[in-house]
Amino acid sequence: MIPITNFSGLDVAVFGLGASGNATALALMAGGARVSAWDDSEAGRAGAQNAGIPLVDLFREDWARFAALILAPGVPLTHPEPHWTVQKAEAAGVDVIGDIELFCRERATVCPDAPFIAITGTNGKSTTTALIAHILREASRDVQLGGNIGRAVLTLEPFTPERVYVVECSSFQIDLAPTINPSVGVLLNVTPDHLDRHGTIENYARVKERLIAGADNAVVVIDDDWTRAVAERHASEEKTVLTASTLGPADITFSGTEVAYRGKPVADLSGVPSLRGRHNGENAGAAYGALRLAGLRDDEIIPHMLTYPGLAHRMEQIGRLENTIFINDSKATNAESTEKALATWPRGIHIILGGKAKDGGIEILRPYFPRIAKAYLIGAATGMFADTLGSGVPHETCGTMDVAVAKATEDALASGAAESVVLLSPACASYDQYKNFEERGDHFRRLVAGEIARRTPA
Ligand code: ADP
Repeated sequence: MIPITNFSGLDVAVFGLGASGNATALALMAGGARVSAWDDSEAGRAGAQNAGIPLVDLFREDWARFAALILAPGVPLTHPEPHWTVQKAEAAGVDVIGDIELFCRERATVCPDAPFIAITGTNGKSTTTALIAHILREASRDVQLGGNIGRAVLTLEPFTPERVYVVECSSFQIDLAPTINPSVGVLLNVTPDHLDRHGTIENYARVKERLIAGADNAVVVIDDDWTRAVAERHASEEKTVLTASTLGPADITFSGTEVAYRGKPVADLSGVPSLRGRHNGENAGAAYGALRLAGLRDDEIIPHMLTYPGLAHRMEQIGRLENTIFINDSKATNAESTEKALATWPRGIHIILGGKAKDGGIEILRPYFPRIAKAYLIGAATGMFADTLGSGVPHETCGTMDVAVAKATEDALASGAAESVVLLSPACASYDQYKNFEERGDHFRRLVAGEIARRTPA
């Protein structure tokens, strides 16, 4: 745990008692703050109570006594409307911040030189964060990985000047971190997402930009108009902003399977199954730039980039049967992510699609329809997706994952293609049939293991 000493002796309100909220309360208490914690849900409050966190009904409190409100990132700060705690805090002139802000203030106080690499973007954050951490670990650095991935940031080990913090930041977390100041900031991309919580894309992009504005040095992938403008605004005498692109000229480029730095090839990703596809070229290029800025040499970066094991549920190869590979991309909860998966193979894709669809459905996947050998539809989106696929794309209503996996496996093996892919990349949230995308991906994994075992001679 990182004890937060900046609020020692002061009263602090903590709202939203999930994993990060509880960690925040405990870190503040360890640093000597007087915590008043609350959650709208009974279960949240019970969990905190079991952890020894003092509960106070913040609705009835006099807010004038609080030095700050620490808000969980899932709680609306501005849109659709500020949560009642935010309204009360603002009325009383109390600062509203999040756990990443506490982390930044503590670092600034106790160990301002601790390397801090922060990663944001609409897509690819977890992959890039995990890749950077993997390379640092393999290069014998003392690494702490957390934030929006894995462990809440305040559960990480305390600061030392050598310990490198690799922290994934969602836009919600940046919104609550006004002084965020990583030694290296990484911005991958900005596409419309979470606009229910940020109001407009301009506002969403402005929040993401703050990570780069506050960084000592930065890497910005310039493949969309928003991020390109950010790179242009922040390149300066005082700060190195490395640009990266999969589309055109930049400091770091990715084309085919090759990452290059200022025109010189540095890594060939063709043998790295966990980094398939152009989008992963973007992630690898950004990781390379971040690690250069963190002071690593090429010979410390490249060999370990090639051994990156990948993250579960993101284009994860989970098995092979004869000509067919099985890919778990359950994390693809929107069509933009599924588009990246479809772009990876030119043909022979047996794709399992469906769940709870996002606005727009799978309309944007149309250019990739010729790559689909057949689609297997599950969950609530079935009717909508069947309409979009129309008569041009073979598809079948399967209802549930077990039916879809059995049919897709059968068809892929029978296809006679040199390489076939059974791909779970559903372009949908999972809530209609599963608790979350992890549960969906784990179910797929079990079913695939069953198919492989059943069809492999003992
Ligand atoms: P995040 O943490 O930002 O949600 P992940 O690294 O978990 O991103 O990847 C989630 C999904 O997004 C992947 O399965 C892939 O389909 C897609 N994706 C990954 N990297 C990128 C990228 N750089 N650009 C666009 N899409 C990406």
